[in-house]
Amino acid sequence: MNKMLAAVFHKDETSGGEIKLEEVDIPKIKKDDHVLIEVKASSICGTDLKILKGGHPATDNTILGHEFAGEIIEIGENITDLKIGDKVVVDPNEKCGYCINCRRGLSNLCEYMALGTTFGIFQNGGFAKYCVLPRSALFKLPDSINLIAASLIEPLACAVHCHNIADVKESDNVVIIGAGPMGLIIESVIRKHPIKRLISIEMDEWRGHKALKLGADHWINPKTQNVKQEIQNITNGEGADVIIDAVGIAETFEMATTIWAPGAKLVCFGQDYRAEAKIKPNDIVRYQRKIIGSYIGYAEDFLDAIELIANHVIDVDELITTTIPLSDLLTTGFKLMNERKCVKIITIP
Ligand SMILES: [Zn+2]
Ligand SMILES: [Zn+2]
Repeated sequence: MNKMLAAVFHKDETSGGEIKLEEVDIPKIKKDDHVLIEVKASSICGTDLKILKGGHPATDNTILGHEFAGEIIEIGENITDLKIGDKVVVDPNEKCGYCINCRRGLSNLCEYMALGTTFGIFQNGGFAKYCVLPRSALFKLPDSINLIAASLIEPLACAVHCHNIADVKESDNVVIIGAGPMGLIIESVIRKHPIKRLISIEMDEWRGHKALKLGADHWINPKTQNVKQEIQNITNGEGADVIIDAVGIAETFEMATTIWAPGAKLVCFGQDYRAEAKIKPNDIVRYQRKIIGSYIGYAEDFLDAIELIANHVIDVDELITTTIPLSDLLTTGFKLMNERKCVKIITIP
């Protein structure tokens, strides 16, 4: 009874690595500010697949899963504001609170985090029945919240952060490039605010239709349509006032610079560290445009994401494609992710 099933990453310097479902020891609290949680739901992220292919670093022999929620079953002596039975969601990115970025209010850029501290990537995470975490990584949830829906809070917090960075106005033509899980979650947040229109650019049919279902007014398929011309037609020649690049490759960045209106904001959200794109500085100066990055989120974005889930503002049923037992992670879970016919897949340990 002191073993549990866990999805453990085994690093391979040439191929990236593999994940194995293994019986491992149930972790124990080692510090007085630690909490043992029973994981109730853990969402699969595109980053998990990137880790397998070597496109994202991760620590060898670590339990993956960084988007998860659960219930407290054991609690360190120093913790007075949480109790056994409380529902919690995990902010997997551990911040120090004292580096220069933290103290400047940019905790999402914590220098300590850059050394590799994320739970579910560099330290044990949520693809397991139990997980030990420091108090600082936890947000208490309302008792009434559905914990399967709560496993969406982490990616939703990143989407809330992106929405805040984009600072959309009611008169804005908003374009989201890429309708993968994050593009769609960002769309769900933006759609809750008044804007002129929302246009999704996506080359995959399933995802394009999903973008429309979640509230995009238009879907442009760059495989079959001329993006620049379509944006001109749809916006009556105005162009895009806010563009979210939820892909982050050279092609999408450069595409954005063909459709941006004077005074537009281009928010870079999707990440590919290998991408290098061309841009004419004068296109920025002459038309007073802005290019801004959006990276994970602040604690306040977590609080907003919790409210959006707890108050049923976000249509969770549209975002959760299916729920599977953790034992099906490597089969059904990764298969659906690789086929790109899903938004979020939730595993239950
Ligand atoms: Zn993620
Ligand atoms: Zn810091």
